[in-house]
Amino acid sequence: MSAEAKTPDRDPYRVHRLKVARMGHPVLREVARPVDPDRIATPEFQDFVDSMILTMHEYDGVGLAAPQVHVSERVVVFAAAAGLDTDDGQPITALINPVLEVLTERTESMWEGCLSLPGLRGRVERPAHLRLRALDRHGREIDLELEDFDAVVTQHECDHLDGILFIDRLADLRELAFEREFERHWADDPDQDPSPTEDSDSA
Ligand SMILES: [Zn+2]
Repeated sequence: MSAEAKTPDRDPYRVHRLKVARMGHPVLREVARPVDPDRIATPEFQDFVDSMILTMHEYDGVGLAAPQVHVSERVVVFAAAAGLDTDDGQPITALINPVLEVLTERTESMWEGCLSLPGLRGRVERPAHLRLRALDRHGREIDLELEDFDAVVTQHECDHLDGILFIDRLADLRELAFEREFERHWADDPDQDPSPTEDSDSA
């Protein structure tokens, strides 16, 4: 459970684990609607963000997007393992209405997983450097440049807001595997990214 979820003035019964939508549910293919910034400070919205964070941790994910819990709104949350920090080193736990701008043609290739596609891994290539603009869970503006793993995780989550799943981004369908076969046959391949266990976290 996140620190935020333990805030004493919050009704603990309203923060709860949410059901994760799996591939095939239409909500994962919708373009999610923007959040009205005036709603961010409401207890209902804050409880929803805490419930998303709780759900992400319960499923051992590094990130989770609202459509993955059947809410078609432009909200994503991250675990500390995703490594997203503000310029002053504070971890970013939520992005609201994020906008990404690609800053390079350089790409990063990683084996991705997704809580909505349990048990699968696939190698995806994505731009390795981008600018992120969003609001945080307190409605403050975020404007950051992200690289490599941070950039990949953020793109994976923001894709969910546009109805895109990582399998849509596979360059080669032969690089789609079940987790067990991935661990056996791909994870130690020297051509892979040097830290496949971290890169294979689900999001
Ligand atoms: Zn995902």
